[in-house]
Amino acid sequence: MKSNILAIILGANGVGKGTLTDGALKGRENQFNILATGNTIRSEVNQQTPLGKKAQTFMEAGLLVPDELIIDMVINAIKASEKPVILDGFPRNVTQADALLRAGIIPQKVIFVHLDDETIVERLSKRVICQNCGKTHSTEGPQRPRVDGICDKCGGSLHRRKDDQPDIVLTRLEGFKRDTAPVETFLSNAGVPIFTVNNDHPGAQDEFTRLLFQ
Ligand code: AMP
Repeated sequence: MKSNILAIILGANGVGKGTLTDGALKGRENQFNILATGNTIRSEVNQQTPLGKKAQTFMEAGLLVPDELIIDMVINAIKASEKPVILDGFPRNVTQADALLRAGIIPQKVIFVHLDDETIVERLSKRVICQNCGKTHSTEGPQRPRVDGICDKCGGSLHRRKDDQPDIVLTRLEGFKRDTAPVETFLSNAGVPIFTVNNDHPGAQDEFTRLLFQ
């Protein structure tokens, strides 16, 4: 199957993957499915589903949830999607990337978003997300909501994520370097085109949008 994955967005927590993807899809949200596995798992945890109960301790400690909880769920969702899929947060390790390829799902491209660790920790200390729709806002700067504590997109209430505490953020960054960064080489060796964007300048959004749709 020539895949219906438009792109895999790779990057450490807090580099702005979700915000760049939302920005790129403005006005064409209905044409794509964004599969953000972190949002999916958070919603399962909030609803205390069987999967959510199993995933909760891993998620709150800043660790990846076990592959067996997530791989089939994501592959089934990709196969069921009638629209092109943008993957944010999957694959998070080489086992997951390998499972994708073995299922015959070949992504069209990877966009790897970079930012230095110091900026990531600073950004995450201000991040608030909507408990209802998962949209990211910040308590300062251009992503500040129009009304404090209320989501601009759906009116839901904004909360800090438990795993955005500084010590947990450091655990997640270490995990990213150890488990997720090698996915770039793995997919590149499999022939998937890799593009990179440094999200440290105002032109990053345009660059990202161009790469996504080129
Ligand atoms: P995120 O919102 O992408 O930062 O993900 C939040 C948390 O969800 C991660 O720290 C993991 O606990 C879990 N998670 C999200 N995606 C995956 C994945 N592909 N594999 C394992 N765990 C994941």
